[in-house]
Amino acid sequence: METKYIFVTGGVASSLGKGIISSSIAKLLQARGYNVTIQKFDPYININAGLLNANEHGECYVTVDGHEADLDLGHYERFLGVEMTKQNNITTGRIYQSVINKERREEYRGKTVQVVPHITNEIKMNMTALGNKFHYDFVVTEIGGTVGDIESLPYIECVRQLKWELGKNALSVHLTYVPYLAAAGEMKTKPTQHSVQKLQSLGVQPDILVLRAEHEVEEDMRRKVALFCNVDADAVVQSIDVPTIYQVPINLLNQHMDEIILRKMGLPIGEKPTLGPWNSFLKRRQEAKRVVRIGLVGKYELQDAYKSIMESLSQAATYNDSKLKLEFVYSEELTSDNVARTLESYQGIVLGPGFGQHGVDGIYVAAQYAREHNIPTFGIQLGMQCMSIEFARNVLGYSDANVKEHDPDTKHNVIDIMEENKVMTNIDGTMRLGSFECVLKKGSKTEKIFGKEVISGRHRHRYELNNAFIEDFEKAGMKCVGVNPETRLIEVVEIPELRWYIGVQFHPEYESTVLNPHPLFLSFIKESLESK
Ligand code: GLN
Repeated sequence: METKYIFVTGGVASSLGKGIISSSIAKLLQARGYNVTIQKFDPYININAGLLNANEHGECYVTVDGHEADLDLGHYERFLGVEMTKQNNITTGRIYQSVINKERREEYRGKTVQVVPHITNEIKMNMTALGNKFHYDFVVTEIGGTVGDIESLPYIECVRQLKWELGKNALSVHLTYVPYLAAAGEMKTKPTQHSVQKLQSLGVQPDILVLRAEHEVEEDMRRKVALFCNVDADAVVQSIDVPTIYQVPINLLNQHMDEIILRKMGLPIGEKPTLGPWNSFLKRRQEAKRVVRIGLVGKYELQDAYKSIMESLSQAATYNDSKLKLEFVYSEELTSDNVARTLESYQGIVLGPGFGQHGVDGIYVAAQYAREHNIPTFGIQLGMQCMSIEFARNVLGYSDANVKEHDPDTKHNVIDIMEENKVMTNIDGTMRLGSFECVLKKGSKTEKIFGKEVISGRHRHRYELNNAFIEDFEKAGMKCVGVNPETRLIEVVEIPELRWYIGVQFHPEYESTVLNPHPLFLSFIKESLESK
């Protein structure tokens, strides 16, 4: 079949959950047997999300092919279980960079290079690239920002052009907000009407409206919106607050979102999808009674900086028939004086990833407390590096052990930039990015957790465990059980004597999906539940 394109835009306010709506629509179509992907167009000028401050923008998600992406791509993968790539996340920066490079190569043959048609053609080419190359049945495209933003104008213009060119093969879904005015005791649709008018003034008539609201939007009100916005009454659906984002596809299904799309795009309706495994996941989540208390020690105050870790932990809790009670411990405030009272109540501790020295001391303190008290501990990236340095300082007795970056004079550069890493870094040569193979030592705890020896993990870091210290570590009880088969760089450490003390150089949180939870998170939660 010809690829169908669904464009998801948002209005009234940001943070309404466009990523979740896009993921849910894609999920419903996937459940009907279609081959679906999702892409995000971000109107900012940054080339990618790599240099965005995690404390302001949240997590930088990493794809298998090493692209540093918007965190919405994490939702796409968690919902669909389909791997995203660099092509699934385009920014205005990338678009302009490509156009400017073409201009320098004289590809525009002396023409004046303009937003319309050159920038818009470049955007359109990227909007249809995945469909053309991989022949997806559906490509869901989320446009970042809100309608009316200056910077998203070229994207909306492309949606207008593609709707015109593709006819029935293109569809516009617009997400808006219906606020409840407590003083009036009423919900208000005016912002939605204005948002749709704005979209219409840019030449795009939405086919489907999703009304985000905290309270039920009654049918009368939905009819009124339909009438004012030139949208079919049954194509105005609502998305009200739900206890878990994973409930959203089911809510849309109950309002026949999938049927509306298929009908509008001229496809047969067929059987209603059952979403069996998805529903059993939700049922298990709802029925879980036991609580698992986890402390996430990290250097960022913004919880979104740990989005994928939060989701991975909560998925793993569900699969262990428990409810996750996750608390954030800001490492900057953690000292040896307050560590016991801060961490003692947790059944498991996660030491989080991060960049820069700020707040790292608190992670060392947490690692030491967790190790000495045999609390299940999961070190991710920077967390793993802190586990190793804490071990070197307090067990091996190398009191000056450090990351070379934080102390250039240390004799015990336990974490450093390794020669071997340089062959694996990206173009600008500073970061190891994307998925790499790792071979696990037979009989190690980690190998038993995975149930196989060869695994892979996604990386995003500069520093590595210094191979010169492997022997010291192993003799003293911290085993280097995961090795990159090409470069011999250490990817996993564990202390087998402790109940669960594992650190990984990669980011397992990017790979845990609703229907395919990551074995390390599953095992960590299981052990945490048994610990207290
Ligand atoms: N700052 C560390 C490094 O670059 C850890 C990075 C991370 O946690 N992803 O190696």
